Amino acid sequence: MRLVVIGPPGSGKGTYASRLSPILKVPYISTGDIFRENISKGTSLGKKVEKFLNSGLLVPDDITIEVVKKRLKEPDCKNGYIFDGFPRTLKQAEELEKIASPDVVLYLSVPEWLLIKRISSRVICKNCGKIYNLLNVKPKKEGICDVCEGELIQRKDETPEAIKIRLNEYEKKTKPIIEYYNNKGILKIFSNDKLDLKPEEGVKKILEILGVRK
Ligand code: ADP
Ligand code: ZN
Repeated sequence: MRLVVIGPPGSGKGTYASRLSPILKVPYISTGDIFRENISKGTSLGKKVEKFLNSGLLVPDDITIEVVKKRLKEPDCKNGYIFDGFPRTLKQAEELEKIASPDVVLYLSVPEWLLIKRISSRVICKNCGKIYNLLNVKPKKEGICDVCEGELIQRKDETPEAIKIRLNEYEKKTKPIIEYYNNKGILKIFSNDKLDLKPEEGVKKILEILGVRK
């Protein structure tokens, strides 16, 4: 299956897409994770994209598309993919059509007040990148990662200013692709306005929407 998950920052893209990956048996690919990994390793890609991520602006299309093309050449993508955070512009969506067009696009629809609440209660493991949310995915020990015991910190782009820019980038550049995929007839919508929906519950609903039996 080739699945694209889109939605505003804080809509739960990473939470759901990463949990769907073992069920659908296709790799989970997050362009945000790839960028953050490169930043923390100090690669040349990392140096190029750091200022965009820190401020909340989208990385330029040419850089993003190149990263995705390279990732899709890996052997684990032979049966498909789950994208979290790609495509994010019309240009990226058009490029993806040329390489490996999606079968389904899942749009996570969440009211704005909830997005802001979710993002501001989110923490990430400094060491392995696992994401926690103090509302519904709490770590066992406060401030410490369950998986690797790394320190849990706030993302640099989760200051109120950067959050505002990210939501604005989403409205301006990403929202138009919902219409684009709707016109292709492959858009499915999962609406969630609950503050504390457990990830497993959300996954169950999404599998129903996608028509997949576990
Ligand atoms: P969120 O959706 O919560 O904002 P992500 O981890 O998906 O978080 O993205 C974090 C940042 O990485 C974005 O604000 C942007 O700077 C960059 N980024 C990720 N994916 C893309 C993309 N497809 N195009 C451009 N920039 C991207
Ligand atoms: Zn960790």
